[in-house]
Amino acid sequence: MRARLARRLFVLTFLLSPWSAHAAVQARPQPAAASEMPRVRLIATGGTISNKVGGRLTADELVALMPDVTRWAHPETEQFANLASGELTLGQWLALSKRIAALLDQDRDLAGVVVTSGTDTLEELAYFLDLSVRSDRPIIVAGSMRNPSTLGYEGAANLQDAFRVAAAPEARGRGVLVVLNDEINAAREVTKTDALRLNTFQSRAYGILGVVDADRVVFYRDVVKRHTAKSEFELAPVATLPRVDVLMVYQGAPGDLIKAAVDQGARGIVMATAGAGATSGTQDEGIAYATGKGVFVVITTRTGSGRIAARVRTGGPRGTSSAARSEYQIAGEDLAPIKARILLMLALTKTQDPTDIQRMFTEY
Ligand code: ASP
Repeated sequence: MRARLARRLFVLTFLLSPWSAHAAVQARPQPAAASEMPRVRLIATGGTISNKVGGRLTADELVALMPDVTRWAHPETEQFANLASGELTLGQWLALSKRIAALLDQDRDLAGVVVTSGTDTLEELAYFLDLSVRSDRPIIVAGSMRNPSTLGYEGAANLQDAFRVAAAPEARGRGVLVVLNDEINAAREVTKTDALRLNTFQSRAYGILGVVDADRVVFYRDVVKRHTAKSEFELAPVATLPRVDVLMVYQGAPGDLIKAAVDQGARGIVMATAGAGATSGTQDEGIAYATGKGVFVVITTRTGSGRIAARVRTGGPRGTSSAARSEYQIAGEDLAPIKARILLMLALTKTQDPTDIQRMFTEY
């Protein structure tokens, strides 16, 4: 702090001095000393970005791939895991969220955090952190589609972009951000849209939040829903997450899968319906079985975008279905089925009140 003040006074004195005009012509941008750079912590969890033939890259090895990163940030590293995204357990998710929260709490000068993840379930992890880490500081989730042994590996570029966003003051308060392919997307909105292409992460109807260009990080818009610092979810007392399953609507689908999930201990079920909420086959029977046992059923759409409105409580049948309406049936709003599942898991750590849970689906 004192050093920074002294430096500012020195610069001011110098600018006011008669030599400054001449010096300004000769001045070249110098990389600032590491200690003056925003510190950004990489917490590596694995994924294709690390998955080199013959062994996975560590957090330190990932940072070593970006010799230029010190132009924007002073990197620090932490190895949390080194697994494919789908191999991380929900217990590890909890531990990771708590770890980031503790780190940001203890290290008040840390500018931001970068988490590397496999891309398969990256959007799920990002949204989980978006809802559960209560901080304004940037948390960036990054990965890559090509592995370090492949021609055209884009992992180092994505990681450097992630560090740049994490170090950018403009990124504060915007929730957890996903950075790949020079683009910044919101954890809540982004989804993996292609199994292989580099531009796989898209926010469909909503679009990108910003870009990471050569000159600077640029934001164009914000997510207005609640997240991070404004989230009500507190994981400190939570030891395990409740089971919530996702089931899809398809022609002639059997309701007994819903019953089976309930019988196996699901506390919530997310229905990925084919349109705006209608079911098929005998699924309404399954839904009635679930809600009759106090299991929450969240209605979402499998279409990739669009909204399921909170139902009007008239007590009549919903859409074409004959299922009796239950207060345990919740409208998933515009959340993708897998995002709705994460919100429901967190909601159930706080409340069993249907009105409260519906409120959460309108606010997050
Ligand atoms: N299978 C990998 C994973 O999700 C894919 C990736 O990282 O892109 O870990």
